[in-house]
Amino acid sequence: MGTERKALPAIDTTRCTGCGWCVAVCPPHVISLGVQQWRKRALVHDEPGCTGCAHCAVRCPFDAIAMVRLTETGATR
Ligand code: SF4
Ligand code: SF4
Repeated sequence: MGTERKALPAIDTTRCTGCGWCVAVCPPHVISLGVQQWRKRALVHDEPGCTGCAHCAVRCPFDAIAMVRLTETGATR
């Protein structure tokens, strides 16, 4: 469908507790929990499927998700 994304979530794995809230609220189900080292952490397993809706960032109780804006120039700061 070629959905235009304006932002992508950046997950701070040092803050993420693996609680799964972001997984539950993601409409297209592109976030899942994976094990990194010995901890569960969220990851976006399908970035092209992400709509940039920011539901995950809003829901995260630990402020572990930041929306990174995508620009035409590719300069995301
Ligand atoms: S921004 Fe929206 S579509 Fe993208 S990972 Fe978060 S909840 Fe899912
Ligand atoms: S809601 Fe936040 S803390 Fe919970 S799994 Fe997602 S990114 Fe990690």
